[in-house]
Amino acid sequence: MADIDSWAAAIQSGDRAALARAITRVESRREEDLQTGQQLIEACLKIKSNSYRIGITGVPGAGKSTFIEQLGMRYIAAGHRVAVLAVDPSSSITKGSILGDKTRMQELSRADAAFIRPSPAGDSLGGVARKTRETITLCEAAGYDIILVETVGVGQSETAVHGMVDFFLLLKISGAGDELQGIKRGVVELADALVINKADGENMAAARTAQTTFKKALHLYPPKPNGWDPKVLLCSSLEGSGFDEIEALLSRYAVENRTSGSWNKKRTEQNIAWMQNTLDSGMQRIFQESSVIREEYQRLQEQVAQGNLSPFRAAEMLLKKITFEAK
Ligand code: GDP
Repeated sequence: MADIDSWAAAIQSGDRAALARAITRVESRREEDLQTGQQLIEACLKIKSNSYRIGITGVPGAGKSTFIEQLGMRYIAAGHRVAVLAVDPSSSITKGSILGDKTRMQELSRADAAFIRPSPAGDSLGGVARKTRETITLCEAAGYDIILVETVGVGQSETAVHGMVDFFLLLKISGAGDELQGIKRGVVELADALVINKADGENMAAARTAQTTFKKALHLYPPKPNGWDPKVLLCSSLEGSGFDEIEALLSRYAVENRTSGSWNKKRTEQNIAWMQNTLDSGMQRIFQESSVIREEYQRLQEQVAQGNLSPFRAAEMLLKKITFEAK
């Protein structure tokens, strides 16, 4: 335990190697590494942090890296420390991990006040997302107060990232009148801001048209639980224009939500959802790994189908069996 405490203290003191090693433990597949990882997380949860977690999504080529480089450098200039993490469940298949190539964020990757970590590998979105969620805790303990979590729209990765951030930003580029096509409907609904990137040069007129289209479209969605009215902004990540407005919006969101109590409420709900998710995936794992449970499930399902057993009794019997097996 003393080891864990001194490791956590090293993380807190800003020792980058200690942080990187901790993340490696959290990402490991070895049971004993994972145990250490969990102990570290518990120790790190006790370290006070006042962070802002911002999720950024957009199709490949939308300009996420360029955008994060701009935004990150601006936060650093304002005295913040920035961690950039990613959720990309496809990276283990394609090996083309987002953030894997640090040259895409040249300035940030050289900055002392920045910490960049590519997406963890994994074969399920749940596993990849969970590791990133845990890495957020470690980075916060290390004093990074701006946490940028990037994701590409693979599977339900946007939903997973939305569930771990305070603010969710959808980065778009304008197309020739087809703004509303090619994005999953549900993603727009998750967004706290929609930012149309590459609003520069010849793209400017199309970007303005897209802004109007999206502003209208956003009215069709139900209001958010915290009363926030999502905004549509323009920017050029290449030229740096539009970022004053983006920063001002992010800051207004934080102030309003912290004041109203929505900030903490959302984080609490997210924590509870993570607990539930982890429980669900643990149950699934028991089902997958235990042939005894699988067979029992099928046997009981058969009996329920035939009307010989009540569904509630069957579920109860199965739960008893799981409790026994899990020991
Ligand atoms: P990502 O795949 O979403 O991370 O996109 P990148 O940040 O790698 O950008 C994809 C391409 O778009 C690169 O060639 C960038 O230089 C270019 N790009 C990014 N932002 C802008 C912008 O604001 N304006 C213009 N004109 N090009 C941009």
